[in-house]
Amino acid sequence: MGDFYDTLGVSKNADAKEIKSAYRKVAMKYHPDKNPGDSAAEEQFKEAAEAYSILSDDQKRAQYDQFGHAAFNQGGGGAGFHNMDLNDIFDHFGDIFSSSGFGSIFGSGGGRRGRSGPIRGSDLKITISLTLEEIFKGVDKTVKIKRFEPCGDCRGSGAAPGSNPVNCPSCQGSGEIRQVQQSFLGQVVNIQPCHHCKGRGQVVSSPCTKCNGGGKIKNAATVNLEIPVGVSSGNYMTQRGEGNHPGEGGSPGDLIIYFEEKVHPLFEREGSDIFLDCWIQYPQAVFGTTIQVPTLSGKVKLKIPAGIKSGQVLRLRGKGMQELNRNRFGDQLVRVNIETPKKVSKKAKSLMEDLSKELNDDVKFEKFN
Ligand SMILES: [Zn+2]
Ligand SMILES: [Zn+2]
Repeated sequence: MGDFYDTLGVSKNADAKEIKSAYRKVAMKYHPDKNPGDSAAEEQFKEAAEAYSILSDDQKRAQYDQFGHAAFNQGGGGAGFHNMDLNDIFDHFGDIFSSSGFGSIFGSGGGRRGRSGPIRGSDLKITISLTLEEIFKGVDKTVKIKRFEPCGDCRGSGAAPGSNPVNCPSCQGSGEIRQVQQSFLGQVVNIQPCHHCKGRGQVVSSPCTKCNGGGKIKNAATVNLEIPVGVSSGNYMTQRGEGNHPGEGGSPGDLIIYFEEKVHPLFEREGSDIFLDCWIQYPQAVFGTTIQVPTLSGKVKLKIPAGIKSGQVLRLRGKGMQELNRNRFGDQLVRVNIETPKKVSKKAKSLMEDLSKELNDDVKFEKFN
């Protein structure tokens, strides 16, 4: 096992924020969703989780600084992440994976797999449209949503104030209905959630009047979102616990935010590259020139070589879109076309007539490509 600081790529005096952000980066790089079936990546992922668990805890970090790995070797296996199931790591660091939506960018929603337990509310899905500029810079958005929240009158219990939920008469409070069936294999016990109490085990005898006993009411809510740089249409992020509340005894679902890129008036995006057409005048193409080109990061100079052909594409390296979760930028590609005027001034007309005579109106042929 390597040095924990090296594992996260931070210096020995990195602060908590640096450690957290470094962990996020490393964890996302080796995230199992991004590296399916890659056991080396999984190992790196676990090692990063272990490093983070130590370095994010001041006391453990101090012990580690003093004694190194030996500080945690009692009982074998350090903090023990190597023996941990991936889901446990997701659970352990749930906030890291969901607070900025990083966990879900890759599709599976971080630590959601294999989770069961109390009733969970439904997920809410929304789509937000972003301009290329917003995607380029990253943006904070506040969205208004309508969702089920626990009823304030009964605090989500569904029972009228002064009354209490009672055990469900259908399942006697177990929340399950067992059915024993005879089959050629023998007895088969079929366990299903109780329909009467929807698996809760309890029912309300005197329902709350505000929520009709459901324990939840629809409210307007605002949610603040931190949209990461470089997202594309079809990417989404998850805000854990910002979805619908299921009512009594349950936990809320998630809010899933899909991104949609607005059409840009000038730029065309393909992955992290940005495409742009430009038209120059014939003399500029002959003599070459330097022009100012708009990019997502402002105007930059582009040198056009003398004798450029119409349709030739020039590349502005690193002037495209930043890649999602990476410190790497695409390019901007500028297709240089030669402007053919439909109308010209008197003076331009006479100059062009002279030029036309000088060039003998030569026509050249080439194989089509
Ligand atoms: Zn209520
Ligand atoms: Zn029941």
